[in-house]
Amino acid sequence: MFFRFQNVGTVASAVRPSAARLYGGEAPRLKTLRTITEMRAASREARHSGKRLGFVPTMGALHQGHLSLVRAARQATDVVAASIFVNPTQFGPNEDLAKYPRSFERDCELLEKEGVEWLFAPSVEEMYPSGAVTWVLVEELSNKLDGRSRPGHFRGVTTVVSKLFHIVAPDLAFFGQKDAAQAAIIRRMVLDLNLPVEITVCPIVREPDGLAMSSRNAYLDPEQRRRALVLHRSLTRVQELIDQGEVSATVLASHGRKEFAAEPSVRLDYFEVVNPDTLDPIEDISNGALIAVAAYIGSTRLIDNLLVKR
Ligand code: AMP
Repeated sequence: MFFRFQNVGTVASAVRPSAARLYGGEAPRLKTLRTITEMRAASREARHSGKRLGFVPTMGALHQGHLSLVRAARQATDVVAASIFVNPTQFGPNEDLAKYPRSFERDCELLEKEGVEWLFAPSVEEMYPSGAVTWVLVEELSNKLDGRSRPGHFRGVTTVVSKLFHIVAPDLAFFGQKDAAQAAIIRRMVLDLNLPVEITVCPIVREPDGLAMSSRNAYLDPEQRRRALVLHRSLTRVQELIDQGEVSATVLASHGRKEFAAEPSVRLDYFEVVNPDTLDPIEDISNGALIAVAAYIGSTRLIDNLLVKR
């Protein structure tokens, strides 16, 4: 098993081969599987015919960020499964579970165009039958960054991702660097539980003006959308200082936070410089760093980050 980071923090290149070209003809039709039994049977079929199965878990409301993961899976494996499941256990009681954007028909069209063979889209009852009391918790890491602001969030994520890994049984699974803490926690979980899946983390896909793509961007009105650019601006400022040779985490974080001081209608949740694996604060970025930010624009919480390589 190994972990691969690709070119993190850049805008993904736009030119990709179409699914039809990759297949040398028609892309296969997307099959939607609603039950665990159906998904297991499909995965077994792939394994028996010697195919490498790639998996892209999502909560739907798909955008180019999600599709970049699908394309990476397409390139690296023989057959691709995606999932759409708005996982209730990763939402806090006052969070946006009920209003989370849903666009199932459109998502299916996008996945089919990208050449995804299987869409696993179970109901909540299918994934969490009544009486379920078992959790997967990655201790330490789950209380850092977003885990500190969203108690129980990562326990919900690691529980559902480990269930999905058991059901889909992929050879490779694809996650976005956009959710950097999530990626670190899943890598740790896979290592600690000896899960037979290789994790690939793909770069953040951004809008032309730099805003990281997110299903939650749909909540923003035009004025909030403009203000939301402060997240990217703060990271760009930090990148400039790094390019000039700055290595002090304190200096970098204070410049990043200063950008938020100039945008008082945006409430900063955190701006931190941490170790990308342990998510612990560091003093100096010379050995690599994750510079992560989260902020509220109205009631919408957005995140972004910059990964500094060793
Ligand atoms: P979500 O549907 O928000 O749970 O995201 C599903 C997957 O897509 C996660 O691995 C995310 O990190 C990834 N993802 C979301 N937004 C982006 C983005 N802008 N660029 C790259 N990956 C992303």
